[in-house]
Amino acid sequence: MLQCQVCHSGDIIRQPIHRCNMLPTHELPARMTATWCRCRGCGFCWIDPPPPLEALVDAYRETPADHWGSPGDRSENALPRQYGEKVARLTPLIDTARVEGTPRILDIGCFHGDFLAEFPDHWDKHGIELSRGAAEVARRQGTTVHEGDVFSVKLPESHFDMIVACDVIEHIEDQRGFIALIRRWLKPRGLVVIETGGADSLMSRIMGPRWYYLSIVEHVCAHSANSLDRLMQAQRLKPVLRERRWHSRPTSWLKPGKRVAQALVFRLGTAALERLSSVIPLPTFTEQIVTRYSPWHATRDHLFHAYRLEL
Ligand SMILES: [Zn+2]
Repeated sequence: MLQCQVCHSGDIIRQPIHRCNMLPTHELPARMTATWCRCRGCGFCWIDPPPPLEALVDAYRETPADHWGSPGDRSENALPRQYGEKVARLTPLIDTARVEGTPRILDIGCFHGDFLAEFPDHWDKHGIELSRGAAEVARRQGTTVHEGDVFSVKLPESHFDMIVACDVIEHIEDQRGFIALIRRWLKPRGLVVIETGGADSLMSRIMGPRWYYLSIVEHVCAHSANSLDRLMQAQRLKPVLRERRWHSRPTSWLKPGKRVAQALVFRLGTAALERLSSVIPLPTFTEQIVTRYSPWHATRDHLFHAYRLEL
């Protein structure tokens, strides 16, 4: 029986979903269909079947350093725009009484090392990264980079005061194994920071199976705030910060409203196209349009949570 890996509920909603490959690989087809599974118990969502893991790892390894933006880019829609603000929210949460010497931080999926660069200069900064090009840039920014897949990298136990994984957990199939690994590397009272798309967000609810987040082939799951808390609490990780954030923030207050309106129109339009396609065959490009275009970043559709390891 199909079962949720977070809460073990068997009460699962299943819907067909269209997926697009934007990674620089020919191992995966440009478009594919799968099933979007959503747990009614905790809100955790996943893709069934997941894309082939080896092809994804190879694709990440060859991903050029400018695939998700240029290093140091702080322009309007660049992802790192909020890094400084996030660091200001996180550093006061460190239990300084428990830190011996220099605080040690690990960024899983550090890419250019731009997020680590915003933490104080005297911190001991480590990153895990698959992209060879991005790892090189991160090293030049002063990060000790452990190249490879998170499950194959060897790091000492109880070693880090803070472990961050921003835009990473949605790429991982074995959710429990991933958090168990983080907990092993974390010092007691250390912090784990997770940022990921919110499956319970307004945008996800409006878009349903057309939510852009699960149409990207490398995303294999999405959490609700509830499912993320449950996953973490099973490893004695207690929430200390729970925010919803824009992935990249719109620059004026009008923009979120405008984008929600676009999303509604888009959702109604795609539903009409789907109905039409069941009556008459539509050309392939209509499917590609509806899969590729989606009003990104319209609302605070990302979860930004921090947890403390309480033993
Ligand atoms: Zn569940």
